[in-house]
Amino acid sequence: MAAPSGLAQARSVSLLGATGSIGASTVDLLLRHAGAYSVEAVTAHRRADELAAIARKLKAKVAVVADATAYGALKAALSGSGIEAAAGDEAVVEAAARPVDICVAAIVGSAGLKATFAAAGAAKALALANKESLVCSGELLNQAVRASGGIMLPTDSEHNAIFQILNGLDARHAEEIILTASGGPFRATSPAQMRLVKPQDALKHPTWTMGAKITIDSATLVNKGLELIEAHHLFGVAPDKLSVLVHPQSIIHGLVRFADGSVLAHLGPADMRVPIASCLAWPQRIDSGARRLDLSEVATLTFEAPDLQRFAGLKLTQDAMIAGGGAPCVLNAANEIAVEAFLEGRLGFMGIPDLIAETLDLCTGRGMTAPPADVHAVLTLDVEARRLAAQLLPHIAARSW
Ligand code: NDP
Repeated sequence: MAAPSGLAQARSVSLLGATGSIGASTVDLLLRHAGAYSVEAVTAHRRADELAAIARKLKAKVAVVADATAYGALKAALSGSGIEAAAGDEAVVEAAARPVDICVAAIVGSAGLKATFAAAGAAKALALANKESLVCSGELLNQAVRASGGIMLPTDSEHNAIFQILNGLDARHAEEIILTASGGPFRATSPAQMRLVKPQDALKHPTWTMGAKITIDSATLVNKGLELIEAHHLFGVAPDKLSVLVHPQSIIHGLVRFADGSVLAHLGPADMRVPIASCLAWPQRIDSGARRLDLSEVATLTFEAPDLQRFAGLKLTQDAMIAGGGAPCVLNAANEIAVEAFLEGRLGFMGIPDLIAETLDLCTGRGMTAPPADVHAVLTLDVEARRLAAQLLPHIAARSW
């Protein structure tokens, strides 16, 4: 039966990280196309009231908070709705393991790893926003998706752009895959001024509205490095075929260069509903509600190379991608500790790449960066790298201001 919105058939969807920024964009799309999607599970960390409101709007079957102490609030907020309430990390994983057509995996950080893997085994399409899963365990996640017979659809705007450009073509036919970066709020800031950056400055992204962690990652350009690693695994291309181009207007999201000299680009407004809509409808199309791009209004598109001196985090992620094995997982863990400390005023902005570098050195020196054999090994490495990063933190924080 044809579903409203032009989709050939209605689709079942689960949304992990429903209360976040990607969650909000996805909820907006699901409400715009109510009738085209039936919602199975929605999850959050601990914002029970917000999650219950989303579950009610979307008529989800189950709502889950990871934090067990939020169960009472969730249950009360869902009272009379007929929606099942559950709590705890394992309940989130169980919700992710429910069979659906599409699971949008949008928990932030390596906290989303287990649920993302569960979704990879159960959903026909894994719409991946939780880039940290690919960064920490790219090969293992690819294997999990292959084993389930499903497909991974990139939700990140740059990767979704490349996915659309390639349109089924093997990425190994490409000469170069170029991810664009806005450059963040400190693109033109001097190193001396960057030392003085406060969380409220770094949280002001020039073009995108996103959750706090990825906004800080965008300010350090670590996000772009994580995206390189993400692209490496998503498209199966060697690190030397991947590059970053700073494009402050955030209109072109990705480019692919071919052997004949052709360069294909994907353009769109800086609105995450565009790539998410592409995933929800793939291989068809639905209206995202995003403002249509008017290039005469944009008028100017500019480009520059990234400054790897000022944005050492980008260089560190490139090096970790080349090193492979457990290095990206260690880098990700150290970055998560650093970003949390920066947001809480315990680390200066320029201490973020320093903490990553020192944690990587320490873990490499201890022989911890061999490739993790399975998801359990990834989680163990993540915990150990976090512990070491937390130990290094006070020493690095002291010299970061
Ligand atoms: P937000 O911080 O806005 O939202 C995070 C979501 O994850 C919330 O629903 C939060 O629940 C939940 N969550 C946090 N910690 C846990 C936990 N320990 N267990 C279970 N759930 C948890 O993040 P974003 O939406 O910005 O980002 C989500 C992912 O998407 C990230 O990996 C990011 O890199 C990626 N991404 C985001 C983009 C964006 O535009 N925002 C663009 C491209 C990729 P609660 O609200 O209860 O805390």
